[in-house]
Amino acid sequence: MTAQTVVIVGAGEAGGQAAISLRQSGFGGRIIVIGDESYVPYERPPLSKAFLAGKAELERMYMRGADFYPLNQIELRLSTSVRAIEPASKSLSLQNGGRLTYDKLVLATGGRVRKLPCPGADLPGVFYLRTIADVLSFRDRLVPGAKLAIVGGGYIGLEVAAVAIKRGCAVNVIEAMPRVLNRVVAPEMSAFYATVHREAGVNIFTSASVTALEGHGQVERVVCNTGQAIATDFVIVGIGIVPNVEIAADVGLQIDNGIKVDEFALSSDPHIYAVGDCSNHPNSILGRRLRLESVPNALGQGKAAALHILGKPEPYAEVPWFWSDQYDLKLQMTGISDPGDGVVIRGSMDERKFSACYLRDGVFVACNAVNMAKDFIQSKKLIAAKVKVDPSRLADTSIALKDLAV
Ligand SMILES: Cc1cc2nc3c(=O)[nH]c(=O)nc-3n(C[C@H](O)[C@H](O)[C@H](O)COP(=O)(O)OP(=O)(O)OC[C@H]3O[C@@H](n4cnc5c(N)ncnc54)[C@H](O)[C@@H]3O)c2cc1C
Repeated sequence: MTAQTVVIVGAGEAGGQAAISLRQSGFGGRIIVIGDESYVPYERPPLSKAFLAGKAELERMYMRGADFYPLNQIELRLSTSVRAIEPASKSLSLQNGGRLTYDKLVLATGGRVRKLPCPGADLPGVFYLRTIADVLSFRDRLVPGAKLAIVGGGYIGLEVAAVAIKRGCAVNVIEAMPRVLNRVVAPEMSAFYATVHREAGVNIFTSASVTALEGHGQVERVVCNTGQAIATDFVIVGIGIVPNVEIAADVGLQIDNGIKVDEFALSSDPHIYAVGDCSNHPNSILGRRLRLESVPNALGQGKAAALHILGKPEPYAEVPWFWSDQYDLKLQMTGISDPGDGVVIRGSMDERKFSACYLRDGVFVACNAVNMAKDFIQSKKLIAAKVKVDPSRLADTSIALKDLAV
């Protein structure tokens, strides 16, 4: 018998997709989505791109218009937080004192921003970027001449830098590692992005850890372990997220860098699923477990959980992919590269149209395509096929990626 009531905790893209897929795939029972933000499920990528730049309306970020949910009998309980799960009675307690019972529970609790652990981090003028409310709290400060310090040279930090410099701000990016995008791309890619930003006017400080934020009643300086003190009007911190696993951990669900689930998004409790940024799943293509922070993963796992609840299981198995927009550069990334992988650049960095292709023991494992949509699409297939490619032909863009398998 399929479930009568599915409760989804978290109204982000993973939770939203689970609800949409349940209803669209024929679930006839009750669907309740509980989210602690005040907005209907929305897409976060524009928060550091078009919405931050003031070029996208709020409603354009919504996964579905607000009327979609009542029309599809999906009960949205916004500005509502779940405090605890009680698996024995299949119930939940809410922060507002309410209680709910479920037949199946989907945890789509995402992540919260990692806080800067240094003195002065709580000064006014220090911001983080995860939600619509976060962006609305500082967007008006992006005005010509304003001094902005961005802590963290990852995707979010660099996307904010690209928007802010275009708005006429004086932008400093402070990165603790020796290069930007250190964790996720090859040194060649880091060097390319650092050059693009510097040419646009962004100052980048690498190997510089923030030791303190200082100011009188408002942040005024960022102090680094290098001895530098960078004057600033405000600070945006982008140093990653912490998965929200506490309500799952409290009831003994298996946790390992996220809530551990199988390929159907089912956790160690047979009635509880976990999807999106908060979950850690096995990827059969890559042969390893992953906790991914990406929209395709949130949507794919949300759908997988819905289908499993409906008794139509389809394992979630996708080549991981992600994108980042900075200036006129559309970066599309497939697969997961490791530090020891060989790298071949195809195309022209000068013309801002190239791909960094990653090989492990000759096998094509990942691709960072910059303004190279075809390589992005074809690389997914190469990675899934786990094929070897000839490195000497890889750099030749007259040969399509898909024709390079040996
Ligand atoms: C600025 C920014 C830019 C990004 N850009 C890209 C991009 O270009 N491409 C890409 O692929 N990905 C991007 N991402 C990542 C992507 O947005 C996330 O991977 C995705 O949103 C994850 O969705 P989720 O539903 O798993 O989690 P979330 O979006 O974090 O949603 C979880 C929701 O659950 C709520 N919640 C948590 N605990 C409770 C509780 N106990 N009770 C009630 N509610 C709760 C949270 O507050 C949140 O609203 C970006 C993220 C950010 C922040």
